[in-house]
Amino acid sequence: MRTTRLVAALVLSALVSTACGKEGSPPTKGPAAEKLPEYRVATGFQLPQSSTWRKAKSRGRFIVGAKEDQPYLGEKDPATGTYSGFDIEIAKMISASLGLDPRRIEFRTIASANRETALQNGQIDYYVGTYTINDNRKKLVGFGGPYYLAGQGLLVRHDEDDIKGPGDLAGKRVCSAAGSTPYQRIQQEYPKATLVAYDTYSVCVDNLLTYQVDAVTTDDAILIGYAAKVPDELKVVGKPFSEEPYGIGVPRRDNALRLAIDDALAAGEKNGDWKKAYDATLGLSGVPAPKPPAIDRYPAN
Ligand code: GLU
Repeated sequence: MRTTRLVAALVLSALVSTACGKEGSPPTKGPAAEKLPEYRVATGFQLPQSSTWRKAKSRGRFIVGAKEDQPYLGEKDPATGTYSGFDIEIAKMISASLGLDPRRIEFRTIASANRETALQNGQIDYYVGTYTINDNRKKLVGFGGPYYLAGQGLLVRHDEDDIKGPGDLAGKRVCSAAGSTPYQRIQQEYPKATLVAYDTYSVCVDNLLTYQVDAVTTDDAILIGYAAKVPDELKVVGKPFSEEPYGIGVPRRDNALRLAIDDALAAGEKNGDWKKAYDATLGLSGVPAPKPPAIDRYPAN
């Protein structure tokens, strides 16, 4: 098992470094700093009703959960430890609006299956990492947003002709992340597919490149990033077959924090920071900035 994983990882890194030298391939060091918004830190901002905010304020920074292996969305530079991507920008926009310097955020990588526990245990103050808002999760955590609308898609090898949509997955090996909504959808709606789960989508992609699985499924926004890194090897096929509204996870009972995050997002969408952040990150995938979805300020439940 170990050897297979090592070989797979080597395959992906070799492919990625070949792709880097090519014309038109995306930057691997993250977005150009001068293209990113500079978020103004709100002075005198107070949110005493939020215990999460009070803790962060006395600590002097937010602790934010994120992903580290999702190109254009949440990526960690292994050399510097710096996180970048659209989700990371959203996290910074919120921190600044809530009166704390975004440069001081401490990011922690949390896998899809561990998000609810991390918020419930107070390991993180909020979470920004391709996190779909849904009613089941709302029983465990709160959600600010949504700030982006993705949809489930399929990633296959470039020479794959049989798989064009979820209806073609019968008898195929399909990889997704444990605890994710795309995993659950295949399990419930396409039971003839053979599901394989890992903690992260990048391990699924390694398995796809080494012919251990036939497809990787998750949100189109995530898959586009992997395909862009090795366009000669991988392609995204078909149309999105779900709606995945991305929210900012917060501790369930902290409604004050959730509504302050909604205000921060609304302000960032209005003053142009949201679009600027998108253009400098996820927009590099070639998809022009959409209109952000309506923010859902739902009543405390
Ligand atoms: N948006 C989906 C989810 O929250 C898939 C991406 C992810 O696992 O982060 O489950």
